Amino acid sequence: MKKHISYDRNFRECLDIVAASCRIARKAQRASLNLPQHSKSDSTPVTAADFAIQAIINRKLGQLYKDVKILAEEDSSELKTQKSLLASVCDLAGMNWPTVSAETVIRVIDTGSYRGVGEPYWTLDPIDGTKGFIRGAQYAIALAFIDKGEVTKAIMGCPNLSPSKDDSPHVISPVGSIFFSLRGKGSWVLPDNFTSFEPEKISCELNQSNEIRICGSAEPLHSITKKNDQIAKFLNKKNHKLQLDSQCKYTIVSRGQAEAFIRLPADQYYVEKVWDHAAGLLIASEAGAIVSDADGKVLNFSNGKEMVGNKGIVCATPYYHPKIIAAIKELKLNR
Ligand code: AMP
Ligand code: MG
Repeated sequence: MKKHISYDRNFRECLDIVAASCRIARKAQRASLNLPQHSKSDSTPVTAADFAIQAIINRKLGQLYKDVKILAEEDSSELKTQKSLLASVCDLAGMNWPTVSAETVIRVIDTGSYRGVGEPYWTLDPIDGTKGFIRGAQYAIALAFIDKGEVTKAIMGCPNLSPSKDDSPHVISPVGSIFFSLRGKGSWVLPDNFTSFEPEKISCELNQSNEIRICGSAEPLHSITKKNDQIAKFLNKKNHKLQLDSQCKYTIVSRGQAEAFIRLPADQYYVEKVWDHAAGLLIASEAGAIVSDADGKVLNFSNGKEMVGNKGIVCATPYYHPKIIAAIKELKLNR
Protein backbone atom coordinates (compact mmCIF):
# COMPACT_ATOMS: atom_id res chain seq x y z
CA MET A 1 0.00 0.00 0.00
CA LYS A 2 1.59 3.29 -1.08
CA LYS A 3 -0.05 6.54 -0.05
CA HIS A 4 1.00 10.10 0.37
CA ILE A 5 2.39 11.65 3.56
CA SER A 6 3.18 15.35 3.90
CA TYR A 7 6.21 16.40 5.93
CA ASP A 8 8.40 19.50 6.17
CA ARG A 9 11.85 19.97 4.68
CA ASN A 10 13.64 19.66 8.01
CA PHE A 11 11.94 16.34 8.77
CA ARG A 12 13.05 15.07 5.37
CA GLU A 13 16.63 16.09 6.25
CA CYS A 14 16.30 14.15 9.50
CA LEU A 15 15.20 11.08 7.51
CA ASP A 16 18.17 11.52 5.18
CA ILE A 17 20.69 11.77 8.04
CA VAL A 18 19.29 8.67 9.77
CA ALA A 19 19.47 6.79 6.45
CA ALA A 20 23.09 7.94 5.95
CA SER A 21 23.87 6.85 9.53
CA CYS A 22 22.37 3.41 8.85
CA ARG A 23 24.66 2.95 5.87
CA ILE A 24 27.73 4.01 7.92
CA ALA A 25 26.77 1.72 10.83
CA ARG A 26 26.25 -1.20 8.45
CA LYS A 27 29.65 -0.63 6.84
CA ALA A 28 31.28 -0.42 10.27
CA GLN A 29 29.54 -3.56 11.50
CA ARG A 30 30.32 -5.61 8.41
CA ALA A 31 33.93 -4.40 8.15
CA SER A 32 34.85 -5.65 11.58
CA LEU A 33 32.98 -7.32 14.36
CA ASN A 34 35.90 -6.23 16.57
CA LEU A 35 35.08 -2.57 16.11
CA PRO A 36 36.76 -0.57 18.93
CA GLN A 37 34.56 -0.80 21.99
CA HIS A 38 34.62 0.08 25.61
CA SER A 39 32.69 -0.84 28.73
CA LYS A 40 30.83 2.13 30.26
CA SER A 41 30.62 2.83 33.99
CA ASP A 42 27.26 0.97 34.08
CA SER A 43 29.05 -2.07 32.50
CA THR A 44 27.15 -1.75 29.20
CA PRO A 45 29.24 -1.71 26.01
CA VAL A 46 29.73 1.26 23.70
CA THR A 47 31.52 1.30 20.33
CA ALA A 48 33.10 3.90 18.06
CA ALA A 49 29.90 3.73 15.98
CA ASP A 50 27.68 4.81 18.94
CA PHE A 51 29.74 7.98 19.38
CA ALA A 52 30.21 8.67 15.65
CA ILE A 53 26.49 8.43 14.87
CA GLN A 54 25.61 10.62 17.83
CA ALA A 55 28.06 13.23 16.46
CA ILE A 56 26.64 13.00 12.91
CA ILE A 57 22.97 13.29 13.95
CA ASN A 58 23.52 15.94 16.67
CA ARG A 59 25.44 18.04 14.15
CA LYS A 60 22.57 17.86 11.64
CA LEU A 61 19.93 18.73 14.28
CA GLY A 62 22.08 21.72 15.31
CA GLN A 63 22.21 22.90 11.69
CA LEU A 64 18.46 22.48 11.16
CA TYR A 65 17.01 23.87 14.39
CA LYS A 66 18.16 27.00 16.23
CA ASP A 67 18.81 26.36 19.97
CA VAL A 68 17.88 22.71 19.54
CA LYS A 69 17.61 20.62 22.71
CA ILE A 70 18.89 17.05 22.45
CA LEU A 71 18.84 14.28 25.04
CA ALA A 72 21.12 11.58 23.64
CA GLU A 73 22.44 8.40 25.22
CA GLU A 74 26.20 8.99 25.00
CA ASP A 75 28.56 11.61 26.41
CA SER A 76 32.22 12.15 25.65
CA SER A 77 33.66 11.61 29.16
CA GLU A 78 35.07 8.14 28.45
CA LEU A 79 36.27 9.15 24.97
CA LYS A 80 38.63 11.72 26.44
CA THR A 81 40.79 8.99 28.01
CA GLN A 82 40.48 6.47 25.15
CA LYS A 83 42.61 7.92 22.36
CA SER A 84 42.37 5.00 19.92
CA LEU A 85 38.59 4.85 20.39
CA LEU A 86 38.44 8.61 19.70
CA ALA A 87 40.50 8.16 16.51
CA SER A 88 38.05 5.47 15.29
CA VAL A 89 35.10 7.74 16.12
CA CYS A 90 36.65 10.48 13.95
CA ASP A 91 37.24 8.00 11.10
CA LEU A 92 33.61 6.85 11.16
CA ALA A 93 32.12 10.34 11.62
CA GLY A 94 34.37 11.45 8.75
CA MET A 95 32.33 9.30 6.34
CA ASN A 96 29.60 11.94 6.63
CA TRP A 97 31.61 14.90 7.90
CA PRO A 98 35.00 14.94 6.15
CA THR A 99 36.48 17.94 7.99
CA VAL A 100 35.72 16.70 11.52
CA SER A 101 38.40 17.03 14.22
CA ALA A 102 38.66 15.28 17.60
CA GLU A 103 37.80 18.51 19.46
CA THR A 104 34.71 19.14 17.35
CA VAL A 105 33.48 15.57 17.58
CA ILE A 106 33.67 15.75 21.39
CA ARG A 107 31.89 19.11 21.51
CA VAL A 108 29.09 17.95 19.21
CA ILE A 109 28.57 14.64 21.04
CA ASP A 110 28.05 16.68 24.21
CA THR A 111 25.33 18.84 22.63
CA GLY A 112 23.19 15.81 23.49
CA SER A 113 23.22 16.56 27.21
CA TYR A 114 19.79 18.24 27.59
CA ARG A 115 18.05 17.00 30.77
CA GLY A 116 14.71 16.42 29.06
CA VAL A 117 12.60 18.53 31.40
CA GLY A 118 10.69 21.66 30.37
CA GLU A 119 11.24 22.47 26.70
CA PRO A 120 10.48 20.32 23.64
CA TYR A 121 13.47 18.14 22.76
CA TRP A 122 14.87 15.45 20.50
CA THR A 123 15.96 12.18 22.02
CA LEU A 124 18.54 10.01 20.28
CA ASP A 125 19.83 6.50 20.78
CA PRO A 126 22.65 6.41 18.20
CA ILE A 127 23.03 2.63 18.40
CA ASP A 128 20.21 0.98 20.30
CA GLY A 129 20.99 -2.66 21.00
CA THR A 130 24.76 -2.20 21.04
CA LYS A 131 25.15 -5.84 22.12
CA GLY A 132 23.25 -6.88 18.96
CA PHE A 133 25.40 -4.54 16.88
CA ILE A 134 28.54 -6.19 18.27
CA ARG A 135 27.16 -9.70 17.62
CA GLY A 136 26.20 -8.82 14.03
CA ALA A 137 22.46 -9.02 14.82
CA GLN A 138 19.65 -6.42 14.81
CA TYR A 139 20.13 -2.90 16.19
CA ALA A 140 18.49 0.49 15.63
CA ILE A 141 19.23 4.20 15.29
CA ALA A 142 16.34 5.86 17.11
CA LEU A 143 15.40 9.54 16.95
CA ALA A 144 12.23 11.09 18.36
CA PHE A 145 10.83 14.53 19.16
CA ILE A 146 9.02 15.06 22.46
CA ASP A 147 6.79 18.06 23.09
CA LYS A 148 5.05 18.44 26.49
CA GLY A 149 5.71 14.78 27.24
CA GLU A 150 4.13 13.59 23.93
CA VAL A 151 6.16 11.97 21.16
CA THR A 152 5.20 13.81 17.96
CA LYS A 153 7.89 12.72 15.45
CA ALA A 154 9.85 9.49 15.22
CA ILE A 155 12.46 7.98 12.93
CA MET A 156 13.95 4.53 13.47
CA GLY A 157 16.66 3.20 11.20
CA CYS A 158 17.19 -0.57 11.38
CA PRO A 159 20.26 -1.23 9.20
CA ASN A 160 19.98 -5.04 9.30
CA LEU A 161 16.20 -5.36 9.06
CA SER A 162 14.65 -6.04 5.65
CA PRO A 163 12.22 -3.40 4.34
CA SER A 164 9.98 -6.31 3.35
CA LYS A 165 7.74 -7.87 5.97
CA ASP A 166 7.88 -11.08 3.96
CA ASP A 167 11.43 -11.61 5.31
CA SER A 168 11.89 -12.95 8.83
CA PRO A 169 13.26 -10.36 11.31
CA HIS A 170 16.06 -12.85 11.99
CA VAL A 171 17.34 -12.43 8.42
CA ILE A 172 20.30 -10.03 8.25
CA SER A 173 19.29 -8.01 5.22
CA PRO A 174 21.76 -6.36 2.82
CA VAL A 175 19.43 -3.31 2.78
CA GLY A 176 17.95 -1.93 5.99
CA SER A 177 14.70 -0.13 6.85
CA ILE A 178 13.81 3.38 7.89
CA PHE A 179 10.54 3.53 9.83
CA PHE A 180 9.01 6.91 10.54
CA SER A 181 5.93 8.52 11.99
CA LEU A 182 4.41 11.94 12.46
CA ARG A 183 1.69 12.15 15.05
CA GLY A 184 -1.72 11.65 13.39
CA LYS A 185 -0.18 10.70 10.03
CA GLY A 186 0.45 6.97 10.39
CA SER A 187 3.65 4.95 10.28
CA TRP A 188 5.72 4.37 7.19
CA VAL A 189 8.74 2.42 5.98
CA LEU A 190 11.40 2.99 3.34
CA PRO A 191 14.54 1.05 2.40
CA ASP A 192 17.62 2.76 3.90
CA ASN A 193 19.18 3.21 0.45
CA PHE A 194 16.11 4.96 -0.98
CA THR A 195 16.62 7.19 -3.99
CA SER A 196 12.98 8.04 -4.72
CA PHE A 197 10.75 8.88 -1.78
CA GLU A 198 7.96 6.28 -1.91
CA PRO A 199 7.31 5.13 1.65
CA GLU A 200 4.86 2.32 2.37
CA LYS A 201 2.28 2.66 5.10
CA ILE A 202 2.46 -0.05 7.78
CA SER A 203 -0.09 -1.33 10.25
CA CYS A 204 -0.32 -4.00 12.89
CA GLU A 205 -2.51 -6.98 12.08
CA LEU A 206 -5.36 -8.74 13.77
CA ASN A 207 -4.42 -12.36 14.34
CA GLN A 208 -6.48 -14.52 16.63
CA SER A 209 -5.04 -17.90 15.63
CA ASN A 210 -3.90 -20.39 18.28
CA GLU A 211 -0.34 -19.10 18.01
CA ILE A 212 0.91 -15.76 19.33
CA ARG A 213 4.18 -14.24 18.13
CA ILE A 214 5.84 -12.44 21.05
CA CYS A 215 9.01 -10.36 20.65
CA GLY A 216 11.44 -10.32 23.56
CA SER A 217 15.05 -9.39 24.20
CA ALA A 218 17.89 -11.50 22.88
CA GLU A 219 19.90 -10.51 25.98
CA PRO A 220 18.75 -12.47 29.05
CA LEU A 221 19.86 -9.64 31.38
CA HIS A 222 17.50 -7.15 29.70
CA SER A 223 14.21 -9.01 30.02
CA ILE A 224 12.94 -12.40 31.14
CA THR A 225 11.54 -14.06 28.03
CA LYS A 226 10.46 -17.12 30.07
CA LYS A 227 7.73 -14.88 31.48
CA ASN A 228 6.51 -14.30 27.90
CA ASP A 229 5.99 -18.08 27.61
CA GLN A 230 3.96 -18.03 30.83
CA ILE A 231 1.77 -15.26 29.40
CA ALA A 232 1.20 -17.20 26.16
CA LYS A 233 0.28 -20.30 28.15
CA PHE A 234 -2.14 -18.30 30.31
CA LEU A 235 -3.78 -17.05 27.08
CA ASN A 236 -3.95 -20.63 25.82
CA LYS A 237 -1.68 -19.83 22.88
CA LYS A 238 1.53 -21.33 21.57
CA ASN A 239 4.33 -18.75 21.78
CA HIS A 240 6.24 -18.30 18.55
CA LYS A 241 9.20 -16.48 20.09
CA LEU A 242 11.09 -13.70 18.35
CA GLN A 243 14.17 -12.79 20.39
CA LEU A 244 15.71 -9.66 18.96
CA ASP A 245 17.97 -6.82 20.07
CA SER A 246 16.92 -3.17 20.10
CA GLN A 247 13.63 -1.31 19.81
CA CYS A 248 13.21 -2.74 16.30
CA LYS A 249 10.81 -5.03 18.25
CA TYR A 250 8.24 -2.20 18.15
CA THR A 251 8.44 -2.13 14.34
CA ILE A 252 7.93 -5.89 14.12
CA VAL A 253 4.56 -5.49 15.85
CA SER A 254 3.86 -2.32 13.83
CA ARG A 255 4.03 -4.14 10.51
CA GLY A 256 2.17 -7.27 11.52
CA GLN A 257 5.10 -9.66 11.97
CA ALA A 258 4.25 -10.20 15.65
CA GLU A 259 1.29 -9.66 17.96
CA ALA A 260 3.29 -8.36 20.91
CA PHE A 261 6.56 -7.07 22.29
CA ILE A 262 6.81 -7.71 26.03
CA ARG A 263 9.64 -6.43 28.21
CA LEU A 264 9.69 -7.56 31.82
CA PRO A 265 13.20 -6.61 33.02
CA ALA A 266 15.29 -9.13 34.96
CA ASP A 267 16.46 -6.41 37.35
CA GLN A 268 13.47 -5.12 39.31
CA TYR A 269 15.31 -1.84 39.98
CA TYR A 270 16.05 -1.11 36.31
CA VAL A 271 14.48 2.16 35.11
CA GLU A 272 13.66 2.39 31.39
CA LYS A 273 15.29 5.23 29.41
CA VAL A 274 13.44 7.69 27.18
CA TRP A 275 15.71 7.09 24.14
CA ASP A 276 14.97 3.34 24.25
CA HIS A 277 11.19 3.77 23.78
CA ALA A 278 10.12 7.18 22.41
CA ALA A 279 10.56 6.40 18.69
CA GLY A 280 9.16 2.88 19.10
CA LEU A 281 6.09 4.14 20.95
CA LEU A 282 5.02 6.57 18.22
CA ILE A 283 5.72 4.17 15.34
CA ALA A 284 3.73 1.40 17.04
CA SER A 285 0.83 3.63 18.14
CA GLU A 286 0.48 5.21 14.70
CA ALA A 287 0.44 1.70 13.21
CA GLY A 288 -2.56 0.83 15.40
CA ALA A 289 -0.82 -0.96 18.28
CA ILE A 290 -1.28 -0.11 21.97
CA VAL A 291 1.79 0.69 24.07
CA SER A 292 1.96 0.94 27.86
CA ASP A 293 4.11 -0.19 30.72
CA ALA A 294 3.56 -3.66 32.16
CA ASP A 295 0.85 -2.37 34.52
CA GLY A 296 -1.03 -0.80 31.61
CA LYS A 297 0.13 2.74 32.49
CA VAL A 298 0.88 5.34 29.81
CA LEU A 299 4.63 5.80 29.18
CA ASN A 300 5.87 9.01 30.77
CA PHE A 301 8.42 11.06 28.79
CA SER A 302 8.34 14.22 30.88
CA ASN A 303 10.66 13.39 33.78
CA GLY A 304 14.03 13.52 32.03
CA LYS A 305 15.99 10.54 30.76
CA GLU A 306 14.55 8.05 33.26
CA MET A 307 10.96 6.89 32.85
CA VAL A 308 10.30 6.88 36.56
CA GLY A 309 6.86 5.53 37.38
CA ASN A 310 6.90 3.03 34.51
CA LYS A 311 7.89 -0.60 34.88
CA GLY A 312 8.34 -2.89 31.90
CA ILE A 313 6.77 -2.46 28.47
CA VAL A 314 3.85 -4.05 26.63
CA CYS A 315 3.33 -3.17 22.96
CA ALA A 316 0.60 -5.25 21.36
CA THR A 317 -2.30 -5.33 18.95
CA PRO A 318 -5.58 -3.95 20.36
CA TYR A 319 -6.91 -7.53 20.61
CA TYR A 320 -3.98 -8.74 22.72
CA HIS A 321 -2.95 -5.69 24.77
CA PRO A 322 -5.65 -5.86 27.47
CA LYS A 323 -5.32 -9.65 27.66
CA ILE A 324 -1.56 -9.45 28.20
CA ILE A 325 -1.88 -6.74 30.88
CA ALA A 326 -4.49 -8.89 32.66
CA ALA A 327 -2.21 -11.96 32.40
CA ILE A 328 0.76 -10.06 33.87
CA LYS A 329 -1.42 -8.94 36.78
CA GLU A 330 -2.95 -12.34 37.38
CA LEU A 331 0.41 -14.16 37.21
CA LYS A 332 2.13 -11.41 39.27
CA LEU A 333 4.93 -11.16 36.69
CA ASN A 334 5.80 -7.47 36.99
CA ARG A 335 8.00 -7.64 40.05
P1 AMP B 1 17.12 -5.18 24.28
O1 AMP B 1 17.30 -4.71 22.90
O2 AMP B 1 15.74 -5.62 24.53
O3 AMP B 1 18.17 -6.16 24.68
O4 AMP B 1 17.31 -3.88 25.17
C1 AMP B 1 18.40 -3.03 24.92
C2 AMP B 1 18.37 -1.94 25.93
O5 AMP B 1 18.37 -2.48 27.23
C3 AMP B 1 19.59 -1.05 25.88
O6 AMP B 1 19.33 0.08 25.11
C4 AMP B 1 19.86 -0.67 27.32
O7 AMP B 1 19.56 0.69 27.53
C5 AMP B 1 18.86 -1.49 28.10
N1 AMP B 1 19.44 -2.12 29.28
C6 AMP B 1 20.71 -2.10 29.72
N2 AMP B 1 20.85 -2.78 30.89
C7 AMP B 1 19.62 -3.23 31.20
C8 AMP B 1 19.10 -4.00 32.30
N3 AMP B 1 19.88 -4.43 33.27
N4 AMP B 1 17.79 -4.30 32.28
C9 AMP B 1 16.99 -3.89 31.29
N5 AMP B 1 17.43 -3.16 30.22
C10 AMP B 1 18.73 -2.83 30.18
MG1 MG C 1 19.36 1.73 23.76
